Amino acid sequence: KLGNETAKAELGRATWKYFHTVMARFPDKPSADESAALKSYIHLFQRLYPCGECSEHFRAILEKFPPQTSSRSAAAVWACHVHNEVNKSLGKEVFDCANIGDFYDCGCAEDGDAKWA
Ligand code: FAD
Repeated sequence: KLGNETAKAELGRATWKYFHTVMARFPDKPSADESAALKSYIHLFQRLYPCGECSEHFRAILEKFPPQTSSRSAAAVWACHVHNEVNKSLGKEVFDCANIGDFYDCGCAEDGDAKWA
């Protein structure tokens, strides 16, 4: 049981890191297709998340707080907010979403892809 909890927490940390980094790299001014792609991705992310209990829990959160994909900052703040919903349900500290802009760095700013910079 302890081992399972450790693995679940580790999966969660890795996943949140990735999830928030996706938002931090989403275009400031996405096309309609890019916004639709992110929305669709978030719903599939929920559906396919490997921890069944977490997936079911996150489904209810998405119903209450539908994905916001109109811009990078909308997506980043939305993701911060839903992560805080999970934090609250687990009795964890709430993260200050005002700081979300600088927190997730993919290390790929020099890629030269202006659209995703
Ligand atoms: P985490 O919550 O993993 O956060 C990692 C780091 O992200 C923090 O140290 C902090 O630097 C930063 N952070 C914290 N809050 C925010 C925020 N709001 N926005 C941006 N960055 C932030 N576990 C369960 O036991 N039951 C569940 O139902 C459950 N559901 C989950 C659903 C999803 C979609 C995911 C991805 C994970 C879920 N987890 C669940 C795992 C849980 O959220 C944690 O990942 C795990 O408990 C480890 O927590 P942690 O304290 O190390 O920090």
